[in-house]
Amino acid sequence: MKNITYKCIECNKEIQTKDVVYLCPDCSKNYIPGMPLKGILLVELDYEFIRNRYSKTFDIKLFNPIDLKYFPNIKVGHTPFYKSEQLSNYFGFDNIFVKNDTLNPSGSLKDRASYLVVAEANRLGIDEIVTASTGNAASALACICAADGKKATIMVPENAPEAKLIQILQFGAQLIKVKGTYDDAFKVSLEYSNKKNVLNRNTAYHPFTIEGKKTVGLEIVVQNFNHVPDVILIPVGDGVILSGVYKAFLDLKKSGITNKMPRLVAVQAEKSSAIHNFVVSGVFEKYSNPDTLADSISVSVPSAALLAYRAIKETNGFSLTVTDDEILQAQLLLSQTAGLFVEPSSATVVAALNKLKNSELINPKEQIVLLLTGSGLKDLKSATKLLKFPEKSIQSINDLI
Ligand SMILES: *Cc1c(COP(=O)(O)O)cnc(C)c1O
Ligand SMILES: [Zn+2]
Repeated sequence: MKNITYKCIECNKEIQTKDVVYLCPDCSKNYIPGMPLKGILLVELDYEFIRNRYSKTFDIKLFNPIDLKYFPNIKVGHTPFYKSEQLSNYFGFDNIFVKNDTLNPSGSLKDRASYLVVAEANRLGIDEIVTASTGNAASALACICAADGKKATIMVPENAPEAKLIQILQFGAQLIKVKGTYDDAFKVSLEYSNKKNVLNRNTAYHPFTIEGKKTVGLEIVVQNFNHVPDVILIPVGDGVILSGVYKAFLDLKKSGITNKMPRLVAVQAEKSSAIHNFVVSGVFEKYSNPDTLADSISVSVPSAALLAYRAIKETNGFSLTVTDDEILQAQLLLSQTAGLFVEPSSATVVAALNKLKNSELINPKEQIVLLLTGSGLKDLKSATKLLKFPEKSIQSINDLI
């Protein structure tokens, strides 16, 4: 049995429990609908134990909060990490690397969080997990639950686009439509998990969503021969992926493995930029009516705004925004130069390179990692916007001229 505690990011209260825990019981009382979550918990590992096991290199498994025996039998993570010569040349940087997390079982980085939450359900002996989501978190939960013989229940707002529901149904999850917006679906999912013996996987609400996503940061260091890159560009909606990457480097620091933190750069869509505005102004305001085709980062009230803000400031990172047009161009460029087809949210980090190439913010010699979070096959409608389909058919090659 692993020895972990949970620590509140706001009041620093430490909680030691073997039971289900979501938010800090004190701080979460101050939660106001329409504002980010209060009292998010981070897992504190036995860093002394990790330090003693460490010699020259480390095993990511050391950083698991629970025993390996609980994990579902499906391969998640361990995705490719390599230098993109094409993007480096194209943008005029020396060292652009990609971490291709589109190659997870359901096609997105969200599988990392679901993988750990399903393992936690196994530890607790719970056989159903619920989440409120319309997108990749739901597909990821449905997928990993299917591989583990668990019931997944997904609460979606009534106007959720049909294309986003296909994977959920394909993986056999129970799909429930909730009247109203995402906030309403979130609320009903909490009622559901409070009343029944069901675990809740809502993003940032369950501390293991952050903890699961941190594995991408740990893998980058291992695959980079134990070097910490200089900069990581991350597409940001709720801010949980960015917080997870930050947690990876906090863990490495606390274990005495490295003190270097990469600068974490949040890339948002111009018309869904709550975290960017927070970073720039220092004051949080929700983004009313977000409007971007990058639906995975279209968020009005980012649940992990506070933690993401802290991660960006503490690592000397920064944030920027890109327009939908820039996103679509970058998506096509990435496909046609590097052979990588990502969804619009992930293409934001490529669009960001365009803005950064002549700026003071990044030295062209630095090692820059692009986090590619989701597959382009999830959203074919967006991709087709810039494609030109052939108009007529030919009978022989003579018709080509
Ligand atoms: C969820 C998601 C993001 C954004 O992650 P947040 O934790 O919401 O900031 C980016 N890309 C993809 C593909 C996603 O599914
Ligand atoms: Zn607290």
